[in-house]
Formats: sequence, C-alpha cells, structure tokens
Amino acid sequence: MAMFIDILIVLTTFLVMEFVAWATHKYVMHGFLWYLHEDHHGPHENFFEKNDLFFLIFAIPSWLGIMLGMIYNQYTFVWIGAGIALYGLCYFLTHDVLIHRRFKWFDNTNNRYFRAIRKAHKVHHKKMTKEDGACFGMLIIPMKYWIEAKGKKVTQKHKNAGTV
Ligand SMILES: [Zn+2]
Ligand SMILES: [Zn+2]
Ligand SMILES: [Zn+2]
Repeated sequence: MAMFIDILIVLTTFLVMEFVAWATHKYVMHGFLWYLHEDHHGPHENFFEKNDLFFLIFAIPSWLGIMLGMIYNQYTFVWIGAGIALYGLCYFLTHDVLIHRRFKWFDNTNNRYFRAIRKAHKVHHKKMTKEDGACFGMLIIPMKYWIEAKGKKVTQKHKNAGTV
C-alpha cells in the first residue's frame, strides 16, 4: 500500500509539472524572462541556448526535494523530487530530442501521439516573438492536433519544428 501511494505521488507530481511547465512557459518565459527564452524562438547556431537555463531552474526543487527528503526522512518530498526529475526527462526527450532533434535519437519515430505533439509545438514556434503565442504545453495538447494526426503517416523524415 505504501508503495502504491509513493507511485501516486510521483505520477501526480508529473501531471502537476505539465501544468507548471505550461504556466511558466506562457507567463514567465514569454513574460519577464523572455530574454532567456528568446534565443529558442530565433535562429541560433550554438548547441547551448540561454533557454537551457530553465532545466537548471527546474532541477533545483527536484534536487532539494530528494536530498533534504532523504536527510530528514521525509519521503514524500523524495517522491515529489523524483516526479519533477521524471517530468524533466520526458520534457527533454520530447522537446529537445524528438521535436528539435538536438540529438538524432528517434528520427524514425512516427507514432500518432508524437506526430500530434510535434505539430502542436511547431505551431508554438510559428511565432518568433514574445506575444500572442499558442500551445505552451508539451505533453498535453489541444484535442485538435490529436485528431489531425490521425492516419497522417509521414513517409519522409520529419523536419524539426522551427529552429533547432
Ligand atoms: Zn516559447
Ligand atoms: Zn532551440
Ligand atoms: Zn521548442
């Protein structure tokens, strides 16, 4: 039973993180910290972006939760930290690898869900500016992209969304 609750904490944290990521992207990254996110929306050559700092920012609560939770024997915080880390990993694999192809790991993936999130994020990247963006979420997307992606098997390798 205890393990079931631990798993539930990890999964709940994961879901909450999708909401936190959406809100941060919409109101902070496209808000007062736009200067850190801007290079992700514009053309850039360097492998690293200022935008990558957000990974470090989100890693801090995860690391603190796991470390302090272990030190003080408060395992709820350890599992919350683990949920944040798991979300960060999934975000990295979908956003940075699958969509922007910073690493060419899943170039032949053609699953319907992946086609849908790639399309949604492409729509987000249509805007090179701070204002009037769309699709700020990552793993949970508007239903219409899921419907659009039905049966649309792409034969040639997908182009990455906007800028790399
Ligand atoms: Zn953005
Ligand atoms: Zn980029
Ligand atoms: Zn992007």
